[in-house]
Amino acid sequence: MRSHTTARRAARSSADSAERRTFRQLAASLAAIGREFHSRGWALGTSGNFSAVVGRNPLRLAITPTGADKSILTPAAILKVEAGGAAHNGSRRSLRLQKKSSETASAETLLHLTVAQACGAGAVLHTHSIWGTVLSSQYASQGGIAIAGYEMLKGLAGVRTHEHREWLPILENSQDMAALADSVRRALEKHPASHGFLLRGHGLYTWGRDLVEAKRHVEILEFLLEVVGRRFSEVSVGSVPSVPSEFSA
Ligand SMILES: [Zn+2]
Repeated sequence: MRSHTTARRAARSSADSAERRTFRQLAASLAAIGREFHSRGWALGTSGNFSAVVGRNPLRLAITPTGADKSILTPAAILKVEAGGAAHNGSRRSLRLQKKSSETASAETLLHLTVAQACGAGAVLHTHSIWGTVLSSQYASQGGIAIAGYEMLKGLAGVRTHEHREWLPILENSQDMAALADSVRRALEKHPASHGFLLRGHGLYTWGRDLVEAKRHVEILEFLLEVVGRRFSEVSVGSVPSVPSEFSA
């Protein structure tokens, strides 16, 4: 009996140290991504937040803290948060956080947990770029932006041709994170093929199976948003460009 208990403790201790190693590696990558995205103008000041899955059951994330200046982000600033499991909110299931471990985590941690759970993503990255902010306001009345016909679309996971049509849903922004997480979950259910979504007047969320893929998706989607923004601002200054009917949601 005692040997079984000892073996269990040894296995737990080995799993804990493996998880600490994973966390340290992810924290270093997240800090580097934060500094790089700041230098690209996608996460200026304290804007943007970045996370990666450390483990599941329960879902555990390494995530940037609230209010961190991304130009000087260090691995030591990265926090670990844990989903408190599924809680019932009326008839809807939603995630909640374990309060003690998330006091200084990003205010948008609940959105990261929601995306990581709904998409099975290994990493979730959120930027506040100029073009994401402009276009998410400009196209909000249409519910999203359709992007098609560009070679760079092939940088999105599973996309093999420039003829791919990428639909980026646009959700109303809110400071009520529980309500926003619910609307994110509904959008992901409705548009399972989308590689990201925009919050109106706020920014882009995208994800990937790991940090490498999620980072690539930020680069691709920010490139495409800038192309769409520049292209349409040249032809229709001040007006909302119409989305061709074949691209409608
Ligand atoms: Zn944000």
